[in-house]
Amino acid sequence: MSVTAAATDEQGTAGDPTAVPAARLADLVGDRADGWDRAGVLPVDLLRGLGADGLLCAEVPVEHGGLGWTSLANGGFTAHTGGLCSSLRSVQTSQGMAAWTVQRLGERAQRAEYLRRLTGGELAAVGFSEPHAGSDLAAMSTTIRQDGDSVVVDGHKVWVTAAAYADLVVVFGRYSEGGGAAVVVPVGSPGVRVERVADPLGCRAAGHAEVFLDSVRVPSSAVLGAGAGLGLLVASALAYGRKSVAWGCVGILRACRDAAVRHAATREQFGKPLAEHQLVARHLAELVTGAHVATLLCEHASRCWDSGSPESVISTLLAKNESARLAARGAAAAVQVLASAGARDGHVVARAFRDAKLMEIIEGSTEMCQVLLAEHAVRALG
Ligand code: FAD
Repeated sequence: MSVTAAATDEQGTAGDPTAVPAARLADLVGDRADGWDRAGVLPVDLLRGLGADGLLCAEVPVEHGGLGWTSLANGGFTAHTGGLCSSLRSVQTSQGMAAWTVQRLGERAQRAEYLRRLTGGELAAVGFSEPHAGSDLAAMSTTIRQDGDSVVVDGHKVWVTAAAYADLVVVFGRYSEGGGAAVVVPVGSPGVRVERVADPLGCRAAGHAEVFLDSVRVPSSAVLGAGAGLGLLVASALAYGRKSVAWGCVGILRACRDAAVRHAATREQFGKPLAEHQLVARHLAELVTGAHVATLLCEHASRCWDSGSPESVISTLLAKNESARLAARGAAAAVQVLASAGARDGHVVARAFRDAKLMEIIEGSTEMCQVLLAEHAVRALG
């Protein structure tokens, strides 16, 4: 069965709108993901093409040039991307997070302008993290200062996924009139400098970069959510990022499961296939279970988004936390099953092993997700 067929079958959504784009994406990526990973770069024409087809932020409503997919449909598509290439999925997550931020925090005219651009081939990244504000985003020191009809942005963002490809960066910071804000900064503006992160552990082609903002002046019409609490603004954007990363982890788990099962079924040691050695079979069982559990958690979270359920936030946290943990564990198990056959660059499980570990760090580390889940549990007691 082809990768595409497997992905669409597992969603149980035969005939859904993602089937044709998923098949096309599988063709476009082909066996190139490893080369992109080694080179540390994705083809920009591919990114722009996917962007112009609306596929990097497919939940954007049709009225704004998007595909208007449900969260569930886009989640399945994101898993498909994640199974092919986590760097590409990372770019998709950043674009989706930028679009969601505009959708949630923007006024009507801002939504009309920016969403059209984000579904028209322009690429975007989102900057929260700073040298002294990682898990603790309340420590952010970037400032967005009102000055007549403009705002002036000063700050330093780190590890901004996709910034190396981006036309626009959505920058979060403190707003001079009180509270926080996000501002859409064109990367070509005077005062913006983008420097690639050298040699990332994984998702090596995702275009991670530091973004330096030195007295960058943009029109006030680029400011989103002015004056709202910084924590609220950030939480809104992060929620989308978590959901997207969680679905990406589903893709990693499926790819690792398939590679491990294929290898264990064909490689013989001690006169029988590896899969018939019970300790190896246990790894396979954990991979099968992990992929299934992560899928169910992500489907639940996306259904909550699609129905506007108040459970969206917590179900997304659950999905992200558990899918990332399962992906990191599952990728390690897949490398163990393949052993020397998977212990080098160029094998999908080796790439997954490096990529999956990062999923436990981004969009709220495993520890921060656990802290939030525990807080929720205590609050729920009343
Ligand atoms: P720290 O905050 O220094 O934490 C170090 C360790 O301590 C972690 O294990 C953390 O979980 C733990 N820890 C910290 N505080 C607590 C606590 N209160 N309780 C328990 N444990 C705690 N940022 C962006 O703005 N945009 C992006 O697109 C983006 N993409 C990224 C992509 C990658 C591949 C990576 C690696 C990072 C990316 N980041 C991005 C940054 C990312 O969000 C941060 O790395 C993350 O928030 C953790 O911050 P930190 O690295 O500074 O770790």
